Parts: sequence; C-alpha cells; structure tokens
Amino acid sequence: MAWFNSRDPYRKLKKRIGDRKVLDRKEDLMVYAVDASYTAPPGNHDPQLVVLAECTEDVVETVQFARETELPIIPRGMGSGMSAGAVPLGGGIVLATERMKKINDFNVTERWIECEPGLSCAAVKEEASRRQLFYPPDPSSYKISSIGGNLAENAGGLRCVKYGTTRDYVLGLEFVNAEGEVIATGEMADGRDSLDLTSLLIGSEGLLGVIVRKRLRLIPPPKKTYTLIAHFPTVEHAVGVIHAILPELVPSVLEFMDDAVIEAIRGHDPYPFPDGTRAALLVETDGNPDTARMEAERVHEIFTEFEALEIHTAQSAAERERLWNLRRLVSPSLSRLADGKMNEDIVVPIGKMGRLLQRTSEISGLYNIRIPVYGHAGDGNLHLNAMFDKTEPKQVRAAHEAIEKCFEEVVRLGGTITGEHGVGASKRREMKLQFSPEDLHVFREVKRAMDPDGLFNPHKLIPAE
Ligand SMILES: Cc1cc2nc3c(=O)[nH]c(=O)nc-3n(C[C@H](O)[C@H](O)[C@H](O)COP(=O)(O)OP(=O)(O)OC[C@H]3O[C@@H](n4cnc5c(N)ncnc54)[C@H](O)[C@@H]3O)c2cc1C
Repeated sequence: MAWFNSRDPYRKLKKRIGDRKVLDRKEDLMVYAVDASYTAPPGNHDPQLVVLAECTEDVVETVQFARETELPIIPRGMGSGMSAGAVPLGGGIVLATERMKKINDFNVTERWIECEPGLSCAAVKEEASRRQLFYPPDPSSYKISSIGGNLAENAGGLRCVKYGTTRDYVLGLEFVNAEGEVIATGEMADGRDSLDLTSLLIGSEGLLGVIVRKRLRLIPPPKKTYTLIAHFPTVEHAVGVIHAILPELVPSVLEFMDDAVIEAIRGHDPYPFPDGTRAALLVETDGNPDTARMEAERVHEIFTEFEALEIHTAQSAAERERLWNLRRLVSPSLSRLADGKMNEDIVVPIGKMGRLLQRTSEISGLYNIRIPVYGHAGDGNLHLNAMFDKTEPKQVRAAHEAIEKCFEEVVRLGGTITGEHGVGASKRREMKLQFSPEDLHVFREVKRAMDPDGLFNPHKLIPAE
C-alpha cells in the first residue's frame, strides 16, 4: 500500500486533524493496549495509532483515513471496561474520546443535557445536580468511566432496581458510521428518525459506529433517602428478604454481600459486623419523604421477620456515607485476597438467585477456587469473583473452568452471562452458550448491514462462525 511506504505513514492523518491529536510512539501506544479487565487474550495488543479526537470532525476524518488504510477502529472512552472491549486485539487505530468533553446544551424545562462522549458519568451527574436535576445511572465506576462508554456498554449499577440502566435515559444521539457520515437518532434527528437506531447503538460495544454526542434525560431528584444495612445468619435468610421486598416495594438500592466478601471487608475496615454474619444486605428507599419513610420502616420489619442478627439505619449523611463506604470497599478488598480475580457480572431471574448461590458454592468447592459473591440483587445482577494465584497455572485453569461451569448454570436458570460489563473479547466465546446459531446469525447480519467491511472493533462480542 502506497501510504505505508512513506517514512511517516500517518502523515496524511496528522495533516488533516493536527499532529498533537495523533500518537504513534511505542511508549504512548502501549498505554492504550489495555483496559481494566483481567481477561484480554494473551499477547501484544499495541495499536498502530491512537487518535485523541477533539470534535466530531476529527472522528469523521479518522474513519475516512481508516477506510483508506484498511486499519480497523477501536472506539475508546476511559478504558474502565471489564470485558476488554476497548483493547485493540490485532492492532488498529484506537479512537479515544477522552478530549471530547463539551456540554453542548442543557434544557432545564425539558429536563435534558446534551454532551460529548468523553465527559465522565460523574461530570454529567454533577452538571445535573447543579441545576437541581438528577441523572440516575450509577455504575460504581462513575468517576472513571465516560458517558460514551456507558452508552456503548449500557452501563448499569446500584440504582437499576428502581431507575433502570443507561438505556432508559438516552433520548437521542449522533454517531459516525462506517461511511464516515454523522447520523442523528431519536430526539436529535428532529423527527427524521423512523427506525429506533438509538436502541441499536446502546450496548453495541463499539461495533456499529462511534457515538459522538447524546441527549440524556434527567429527572427531579428524590426528596428523601433512607439507608439501612442488615446482617443475616445464612445466605438463605438474605435471599428470603429479597423475595419478600421486591413484590411489595421498589427500593432504590438492594445490594447483597456474602460471607467471603464480608470477610474481605473485615480485613480493611473496623466496621463491627456481628459474629455469625454470613450475608448482608444494603438497602435504600427514596422518593417523597412520607413514602420513603414508610418503605424504610417496612424494610426494617421484613429484616426482623427474617431473623436479622442486627439492623442499622443511617441517622445522618455521615452514617450513610459510612455504610456506602463498606460497599465501595468490596472490590479493592477482594483484590487483596489473591492477585488474580475474574469478576463476572451474571444475571439470573430473581426467583432463581438462591439456586445460583448454592450452585456457585458447590462449584467453588469442586474446583477449590474461592468465588465471593456480591452485587445488585434487586435486579438479579450478581458479581461472581473467582480468586486465584496468577503464578499458578493450575489455579488459573481451575478458575476459568469454575467460571465456565457457573455460566452454564446461569444459562440453565434462564439468565444471562453479562448484566453490565459487556461481552467484549472476554466473553465472546461464551456467547455460544447463551445464543443459538440462528440468534448469532442475526447479530452478524446486523453488523454486516451497519459495517460491511468490519471497520469497527473487530474480534469482539460476536463469536467467529
Ligand atoms: C472498579 C470498576 C467498577 C465498575 N462498576 C461498574 C458498574 O457498577 N456498572 C457497570 O455497568 N459497569 C461497571 N464497570 C465497567 C465499566 O466502567 C463500564 O463498562 C463503563 O461503561 C465503560 O466506560 P469507559 O468509558 O471506560 O469505556 P471503555 O472501557 O473505554 O470502552 C468500553 C466499550 O465501549 C466502546 N466505546 C467507548 N466509547 C465509545 C463511543 N464513544 N462510541 C462507541 N463505542 C464506544 C469501546 O469500544 C468498548 O467496547 C466498572 C469498572 C470498574 C473498573
């Protein structure tokens, strides 16, 4: 290819969008070869090039350049992904949106914000809050993930049980397609949108185009919030509480922690978990003050009916923060149990949660691999963490096999292998467990229709035929 014979093969692109937006030095490229996942396939994943786009036109130019050079494009937000979605397997151009941080518009009366993809989720929340509005999606990574990445993964989080996922707050968007055209969808298309392309792009994991702008729905914030934690003598007691709460109330948070998670937190925080605690639930109710209070009182009653060892209701903002801190400590505490951690974000129907927890415990025993469990129990989204010693090949293998068995159980119970972290490269193979050849054929056809030359994010999500 003529372009490659030049001494600086990327000169043309640098000329078009500006030198300072293009990285091609080895030491810069390696920073963009990883994300926050532990499961990218082994090997060197350095891209050939990183583009730090500053506006939509830069994205368009990069797509044109990629077409000319036949290099694939790997869209990237902040690289907090847990499924190697932004890892450039086989190289290519990493198109990073970290400099695209503009708030384009804000409408308080109609309650929406329009912004670029590189803004963090936290920044969107803060911007809404400054105007007495509320952006509910709440991934634990809200400070370290981009809003573009949140859309591409349909990020979930702690408040999904009441407020839904990122998808429920997207009114419309603009994306750059494989032809380098800017396509507007939903409310951003001014009525010219007939197919629901917004829905197609959300959760598309960078396979269908680069999201460059979005309009997000905001709501009035809850007027009052109550936070409670309860400790139980068995996992079955905690599951009983979940089954009792959900038909009757809509808590805004319903988080589960098992005994291995509690043990890990104990190593880091002097919080006095009562002796004999085998499971804990963190619950919040929110809304107008009377309803939130009545719901919190009812949660307290249900805790008591299910023989909670101890119940604590936060009496101040500081106490609430204290309880939240325990939840935030889960991930770092587990990381100290072992240097290897496979954090899998499965979902099962709520009624099957007890069965899954029991099977996970059996599988853990069978493979001699600890699998602490915590997560967003209110919507059946649990995080199974296989812990292992990275330097022990036998343990690494056992952890993979144990997780594979858990996935099989999840699918058998009518669940899904990923609730919020996406498929990326990490669970691409496992898609065959959950989806039939006919389902996968439909996925491939959608990809072919939107991206016939396979320009965007190859080797991800859809398994090879
Ligand atoms: C400590 C920790 C806690 C986490 N907690 C949660 C949680 O509670 N809930 C949850 O859902 N996730 C969670 N995650 C996972 C992760 O933060 C989310 O998946 C997040 O949405 C990724 O955003 P990002 O900007 O980092 O995207 P990246 O990792 O950069 O990219 C993720 C995927 O999105 C694609 N992409 C990124 N930007 C664009 C764009 N503009 N257009 C098209 N495609 C794009 C990429 O190609 C890639 O496939 C957590 C991660 C960590 C490290």
